[in-house]
Amino acid sequence: MSGSVTLVGAGPGDVGLLTLKGRGAIETADVVVYDRLVSPEILALIPPDTRTINVGKASSNHLVPQEQINQILLDEALAGNHVVRLKGGDPFLFGRGGEELELLVEHGVGFEVVPGITSAISVPAYGGIPVTHRDCCSSLHIITGHARAGKPLEINFEALVGTKGTLVFLMGVSSLPQICQGLLDAGMAGDMPAAVMERGTTPRQRRISATLATLPQEAVAQKVESPAIIVVGKVCALAEDFDWFDKLPLKGKSFIVTRPKERAGTLSGRLRSLGAQVSEYPCIETVDITPCPAMDDALSRLSEYEWLAFTSPAGVETLWRHLRAQGKDTRALGGVKLAAIGAGTDRTLQTHGLQADYIPEVYDALHLGQGLGKLATGKVLILRAQQGSPDLTEALEQAKIEMDDIAIYTTQYENPQSAQLRQQIETAETWVTFTSASTVKGFVSSVGADADFSKVKGICIGAQTAQEAQTYGIATKVAQKATINSMVETILKENLEEPSWT
Ligand code: SAH
Repeated sequence: MSGSVTLVGAGPGDVGLLTLKGRGAIETADVVVYDRLVSPEILALIPPDTRTINVGKASSNHLVPQEQINQILLDEALAGNHVVRLKGGDPFLFGRGGEELELLVEHGVGFEVVPGITSAISVPAYGGIPVTHRDCCSSLHIITGHARAGKPLEINFEALVGTKGTLVFLMGVSSLPQICQGLLDAGMAGDMPAAVMERGTTPRQRRISATLATLPQEAVAQKVESPAIIVVGKVCALAEDFDWFDKLPLKGKSFIVTRPKERAGTLSGRLRSLGAQVSEYPCIETVDITPCPAMDDALSRLSEYEWLAFTSPAGVETLWRHLRAQGKDTRALGGVKLAAIGAGTDRTLQTHGLQADYIPEVYDALHLGQGLGKLATGKVLILRAQQGSPDLTEALEQAKIEMDDIAIYTTQYENPQSAQLRQQIETAETWVTFTSASTVKGFVSSVGADADFSKVKGICIGAQTAQEAQTYGIATKVAQKATINSMVETILKENLEEPSWT
């Protein structure tokens, strides 16, 4: 089978600015060859069993030479792989994408190009700078500010100034003084608005606004680092009115989302769209108990039960995996009534074409037990985690309801990169979201119970989760309702008001 190469532009950093076509290519690749500028959130979209090759290791400052990258792409494709070459921004704008295709053409290897959103236009946009505006200019020029080692810049400043257009310089941080001087010498006014934008479209984005004359000293004073782009032109003055990204409510805040991997996405996405820096840190993993004779037995006698209760989306999924493995489907549940601990569990039931007959007002084990205690006249079957809360069974016992409480999965703690996580939470204020008591346990076991949790702000889905967090000295805030929406609302409220942590 012959391989091929897809050149994919990853965009400027914000994962939402990757194209659908780019995402599809990443998800179906055999190998992904990526650069330094591709953001971690985009790299996280690469399926775990896909091979990756990093050709831009920033740590050692040792970049893989271009010829070698070209060769890697060729060799991988000739070996029959579908290769995705993932590059920052757009692959053809100062991205050497053309060079990478030449060797492929020479060897008759098939390729496709998926353009990306370039930093040259999107980074100014995130800083409130439209690169053109009818009142300001009638052209846009994108220039490399990179000079070959020991050589002066090869830029025709007179021609650029003559256009009266917006000028965007990429790779220009180290030549910033020469660029500004070149424009001044070519007759551009010293008070022309100008800006540098660092790490644009990411939670660490910074815009430094100045004038052509003052920009170099401002950039030094504020320690601007690469990657950054330089924008020169009247449009830069519009940033004061049009700035929006830096005003997002959670800009500058760091979050750790501890949900299991399959379910982290929605919460992380919501927080990111509010400007937060989010690291997904799945501390727990659910593992089905297989075989599970107790569940088999209960299911074979399902007509004996009036209610079937679920206390998590994971429980619902485990049951359906189990049914599928036995060649059964939703019909196996017959007419049993369904109870779900909360809206998330009900939504998971809905993906299987079912709807909960009962969801308690407050989404926790105690209220589920009390509610079912009032409703049930027959026997209740509970299918849930091994470490399930006793609140549920105690409430049913008190109501004298007969039940079978069957463990169908276990929660295991993952323990990756604990030293890094520990350092992060001990050195800076970090907001950590906890969606169950077991995520608290998983988080604590990852950083070590003896860590200093005094800088951690725990946003908890419910009272039990908060109680668990407080035992480790974590300051907590409980969402009003046990939903992701309510957690986000709580975060926003705490962020705006002076927080009062308990
Ligand atoms: N092909 C890329 C550009 C590659 S050249 C594109 O289309 O965006 C690398 C330069 O791009 C960096 O030196 C910097 O000037 C700019 N750049 C890329 N991403 C950036 C970002 N998130 N913020 C600011 N500048 C960025």
